[in-house]
Amino acid sequence: MKKSAAIHKAPQKKPAAVSVALDQPGIPALDFGSAWEYSAAPESTSVTVQDRYELFIGGKFVRPKSGRYFQSVNPATEKPLARIAQANAADVDSAVKAARKAYDGVWGKMSGRERGKYLFRIARMIQERARELAILETMDGGKPIKESRDVDLPLVAAHFFYYAGWADKLNYAFPGKSARSIGVAGQIIPWNFPLMMAAWKIAPALACGNTVVLKPAETTSITAMHLAQIFQDAGLPDGVVNIITGVGRTGAALVEHPDIDKIAFTGSTDVGKKIAAAVAGSGKRLTLELGGKAANILMEDAPINQAVEGIINGIFFNQGHVCCAGSRLLVEESVYPQVLRRLRDRMRTLRVGDPLDKNTDIGAINSREQLNRICELVDSGVEEGAELFQSPCALPGSGYWFRPSFFTGVTASHRIAREEIFGPVLSVMTFRTPAEAIERANNTCYGLSAGIWTDKGSKIFKMASQLKAGVIWANTYNKFDPTSPFGGYKESGFGREGGLHGLLPYVVLE
Ligand code: ADP
Repeated sequence: MKKSAAIHKAPQKKPAAVSVALDQPGIPALDFGSAWEYSAAPESTSVTVQDRYELFIGGKFVRPKSGRYFQSVNPATEKPLARIAQANAADVDSAVKAARKAYDGVWGKMSGRERGKYLFRIARMIQERARELAILETMDGGKPIKESRDVDLPLVAAHFFYYAGWADKLNYAFPGKSARSIGVAGQIIPWNFPLMMAAWKIAPALACGNTVVLKPAETTSITAMHLAQIFQDAGLPDGVVNIITGVGRTGAALVEHPDIDKIAFTGSTDVGKKIAAAVAGSGKRLTLELGGKAANILMEDAPINQAVEGIINGIFFNQGHVCCAGSRLLVEESVYPQVLRRLRDRMRTLRVGDPLDKNTDIGAINSREQLNRICELVDSGVEEGAELFQSPCALPGSGYWFRPSFFTGVTASHRIAREEIFGPVLSVMTFRTPAEAIERANNTCYGLSAGIWTDKGSKIFKMASQLKAGVIWANTYNKFDPTSPFGGYKESGFGREGGLHGLLPYVVLE
């Protein structure tokens, strides 16, 4: 049975769930009952959003030379939040000059011990202001407050703490070698984890003695500017971190600037390829963290309820706006009906709505463009013959929303099995043998992450060694830690962030 994904364009309508072959005898439906009906619990802490955010260059908030600003909207309400400065090439040049001056004059010469003190101070100040930052992150990006509060912000602080610890120990990180900083790093980040991506990039760069020009994504610039206030309040020397806001052109101007020594980019594979072409032959160092199409492999011996919970987390966490999202589920054929039924029952209990409500599981899609992209791909899945199931949950009247969904009857050639959806949409497929599971999981141009669910440790090790993915989770999913490196194979990019490996892109070893 098919159903058009066009229902998303009329978010008020409740779609009737499409029935996939789930109702086999012997598999009782899970009765979640009324225990799952909660009252609203909106976040009550108030925060101040400025009307306008300037650029952060040379330790000061400055008006853009371009004289231009663009609007940032709250994706859950479509209401304007703030006007954001739009940096042009002249602004980028000022930021790079400020970063160079700070590198040559102060930061490049400072001892690791002193650099570490600044980073520890910044980490503590992030912790102190974590609630405010989490609320702003949720308002600007649409992610549920329970994620920004309990996942993003603790990890942001943890990354600064972790790399603060390395600042005076680089000789232990690379025994027998001397680690020297590179210079000025240009860093471009996406909108799915705005502060976390900023921390992943800024903390190791600074720990190694480099200075930074950071460009946040156009739809999520606000928290980066509040982070800039923390840098100012922490007394970080002027120009060590500069933050320039703007659209893709601003990022391109940063990539092309001749006085940049290294580019670190997280974002789409298409833009990553453009950046790789732009820096080719320039001598600039480059790391790319790009898209993904991760497979979660569920073996018949896995604890099914736990696995379903992890799979739900893997794809619906942060609305599926996660490059390592487990957007393909490969289920061993013998447990397929059981898994599908559990998945459907659990999805029906997910609460979609106000991201500032502490009970919300799935927040707003980050932007109208992203919502359109998700709808277009889901429509293609229906047109190509896959069967769509969607949670019948109610959606708010305004804002950008997408119901948690999964497809069955998916073949490897369907676009929904090949292309990154970056939304709460799962493609479910089956396999009969571990070898088939590996072949299907690796049948993608990406290789960022994968998941294995099984009761047997030996299967985990055997399968993990055959999966072509940079990060492999076993019996869990989407777990991050600053000590653990993250990065991809194939078109998911190259270079690692996090852990000791995350220092490598920011040092020259002699
Ligand atoms: P996503 O698909 O996650 O929206 P993009 O790759 O479009 O990611 O954007 C990620 C970041 O790259 C954003 O900060 C965006 O402004 C920036 N960007 C977009 N186009 C370019 C470009 N041609 N050169 C450099 N940066 C770019």
